[in-house]
Amino acid sequence: MRVQLDRRDLAKYPFLKEAQDWVAGRTGTLEQFLSTTYGKIAARNGARRVIGAITGESADGAAGQSEPERDVFSYALARILVSCTKDRALIDRLTRFEAARAWGFLQEEDAAKRAYVAGSIGIDPKARELPVIEYVELVPQLREDRWRLVNRQISKGRVKLDGDDLEELIRERIRHLLQRQLPLPVPGQICETLSPLVTDITASYQATILRDFGEVEEGAFPPCLQALVSAITAGTNLPHAGRFAITAFLHNIGMNPVQIVEIFARAPDFDPEKTRYQVEHISGRGGTEYTAPSCATLRTTGFCVKKDSLCERVNHPLSYYRIKKRKEKEREKEKEKEPVT
Ligand code: SF4
Repeated sequence: MRVQLDRRDLAKYPFLKEAQDWVAGRTGTLEQFLSTTYGKIAARNGARRVIGAITGESADGAAGQSEPERDVFSYALARILVSCTKDRALIDRLTRFEAARAWGFLQEEDAAKRAYVAGSIGIDPKARELPVIEYVELVPQLREDRWRLVNRQISKGRVKLDGDDLEELIRERIRHLLQRQLPLPVPGQICETLSPLVTDITASYQATILRDFGEVEEGAFPPCLQALVSAITAGTNLPHAGRFAITAFLHNIGMNPVQIVEIFARAPDFDPEKTRYQVEHISGRGGTEYTAPSCATLRTTGFCVKKDSLCERVNHPLSYYRIKKRKEKEREKEKEKEPVT
């Protein structure tokens, strides 16, 4: 059955070719568009969309119903704005947001439209299995153990899909597609024009990291990460998995590459060039922003050491860090309340 997409559909799935053609037919050159009142409003909406993706609050364009044109334009401008930041972490936040948003809409669609959108991104909505290569490309960012190849049923080079697997893989496919397209090659002049909005976005991101993790406190590091830092300081030659774990963790709690390199500089055999390259790669310059390994992974690689009572309550070192910092802050507040004797 032939599926007709209307303007609301384009707003819900702005990554479809139909939506992009629709935008291209209405803007003239980007420079001209941004000099119009409508273009300036679209740019502001694009920035709001990115900030919504960063903060997790509902962004302009999340509804996809009220003003479809505005939503399609804000999507286009959001992609341009994150491209101007050149920050993989921001690109990652936006693509996750867009994939979750589109996926939410897709849940409500009739079978024909779902099939059309899924088919447009290269997934057969009735598939009950996927070729191993395709599967492996899709799942690296899915954390649950059930996605690991060793936990899947494989037959004749195809991975069997169960229950809701396909639903999640559709969302992952959307995220992949969007991530592959970014950053866009935006001319410097356009980024210059958009720089106040880019600054707002970057500030919002910094504020979110600070809100989530606050200032870095080594005292709140989980035992595994404290052990890794001690190993570096003592000059131990850590295997790649250890260097990766510590770099990704420090990046996730808001340290910039220079600060991370300073931690590695404590090692007696510190190699500045090699370290800088590795740190920048893991922090996102290589095209992917990495998340620190979970406790399960650290256990497998032998880095889960000196567990304490808080470890029993968490399954990720980042959760440990967040809880420990909060507890320490509460303890300090309690101390301040104590009468001075
Ligand atoms: S349980 Fe998790 S947080 Fe605790 S030491 Fe092991 S890996 Fe680290």
